[in-house]
Amino acid sequence: MDNLLKVIDLHCDTFDRLAYDYETGWNKTGAHRPQTLKHNDKALNLEEMKDFRWLQCFAIFIPERFQNQEALDFYLRVKDRYDLEFSDFSSEIQQIRSISELDSVWESGKAASFLTIENGTVLNAQISTIDILQEHGVKMLTLTWNGKNAIGSGNDTTDGLTTFGREAIKALEEANIIIDLSHLNEHGFDDAFEVMDKPMVASHSNLRAVCDHPRNLQDEQVLRLIDMGGIFGLNFCRDFISTKHADPDFDDISYHIDHAIKLGAEDHLCLGTDYDGAKVPSFLSAGSKLQGFYELLENRFGQEISAKLFYKNAQRFFNEYEAS
Ligand SMILES: [Zn+2]
Repeated sequence: MDNLLKVIDLHCDTFDRLAYDYETGWNKTGAHRPQTLKHNDKALNLEEMKDFRWLQCFAIFIPERFQNQEALDFYLRVKDRYDLEFSDFSSEIQQIRSISELDSVWESGKAASFLTIENGTVLNAQISTIDILQEHGVKMLTLTWNGKNAIGSGNDTTDGLTTFGREAIKALEEANIIIDLSHLNEHGFDDAFEVMDKPMVASHSNLRAVCDHPRNLQDEQVLRLIDMGGIFGLNFCRDFISTKHADPDFDDISYHIDHAIKLGAEDHLCLGTDYDGAKVPSFLSAGSKLQGFYELLENRFGQEISAKLFYKNAQRFFNEYEAS
């Protein structure tokens, strides 16, 4: 394979941005749509990704204004857009269902994608919905967003998992859909550990010891995640990187990496950029900036740790998960 930089990103919200606008509703679709996966004004597009070997977990995020059947309908509509983009640009990107497909997709010169979902409202409080997701090749589901849903409670609330939430975790594991604990509150996190048999992910969460924000992980949570063979993704959201700097710089991010290494998470820290879902630092404004970010990392942390963070840890995790 060529020497292009490899990237595995556990989370972005680009498809919501392509499909839906909070002010004006559904965006134009069809052949003459102004925004495509290839050409758009978002942080991620195929132009930004083409100089890398890239595996993107493209999340479909369900806003909290949509509940029950409306939440499932929202997902299905954005999923239509995902299918349209992937069919129109099939020579440049491909959805994969198993990590074992990755190398051949990369060798063919294409980017790869796992389809993921952010917010368990998508289940419409019915276990049977998982069959639909499995059919779509959904790889990972973030159980909650910031508020409450039928599964549990996000970081704006304090309740734990519901009875349905516990059943859902079991059923998702059986369907080989990875559980993502980002956004979940601490009570729910503890409950999830009681129920889960397989390793889990916090796809886009930083470290609270470095930046005290409820969306970030406590040291103890990181240690439990490591212990079960899980991974977590470094989130570029400004508010989750630094409480001191409005536009964080490389040093601010590197404190999270330092602390993760101190906790023994060198083999568990990945990328979870949150592109197109968060306000990110200027020096990381779009996908193409990951080249410069990698160079800074390599200078500070060396080649081995940088490669682990960029793709090796995530690739190993998906392999281990699929073998479990
Ligand atoms: Zn999120």
